[in-house]
Amino acid sequence: MTWFDVQELLKRQKTILVPTGSIEQHGPHLPLNTDVVAPLEVSILVARKLRTVVAPPLRPGVSGHHMPFPGTITLRPQTFIELVKDYARSLASHGFDPIVFINGHGGNAASVSIATSEARTELSPTKVIGFNWWEFIPKDLGYIVSFESGFHANAQETSWMLALRPDRVKMERAKREMPVASETIKMSENFYIGTFRTFKDITESGILGDATKADAELGHKVVEAAAENIARAIEEVVKNPPY
Ligand SMILES: [Zn+2]
Repeated sequence: MTWFDVQELLKRQKTILVPTGSIEQHGPHLPLNTDVVAPLEVSILVARKLRTVVAPPLRPGVSGHHMPFPGTITLRPQTFIELVKDYARSLASHGFDPIVFINGHGGNAASVSIATSEARTELSPTKVIGFNWWEFIPKDLGYIVSFESGFHANAQETSWMLALRPDRVKMERAKREMPVASETIKMSENFYIGTFRTFKDITESGILGDATKADAELGHKVVEAAAENIARAIEEVVKNPPY
């Protein structure tokens, strides 16, 4: 787009989506930009439903725990938080509202939350929001993060990459490597205590889960359903600002 196109867009639509991802190892079978592709493609689907646009994604994220694997690029959380806030400041100054960060990487979640809450305070009444896209996948599609399903480069992540970038998935290298539950102290249903370790300490291949169980059709359904739910949530935020 040109600046002129953006000016025209702003006359009819102020919502903008910003995908946030990571450049990090995703096993020997998925590309380093897996966590950029998923939120970008979900954002494009959401943008079509809302008749708006997607800003250029923030490609690197907070991935220190993947650094032993070649190709990973990490930002310090402070750097990432400042990038998110500068995106929000820039977009708010042109009149975008709400500014919705669609996050695709678990390691960014805490930083997105801090950055968007700081940006809200600074830029109010502009609404600055951060979503983890996978939290909008309906439960009946079987997406769960657990020791049983694994956490990373697993069946779920491989499924949506088979749906979105089949030519970039090297299924012949997909394998099963499960996380070891006993290495974490379970304090309650949702709370775990752990010490910092890199993925190299807990997985040889970079996979935590069973990538061989991936299913492209399920991947398509998951992405479509999440995009639909995110679009509805954004419409609600515009109609009925929660703060
Ligand atoms: Zn990932």
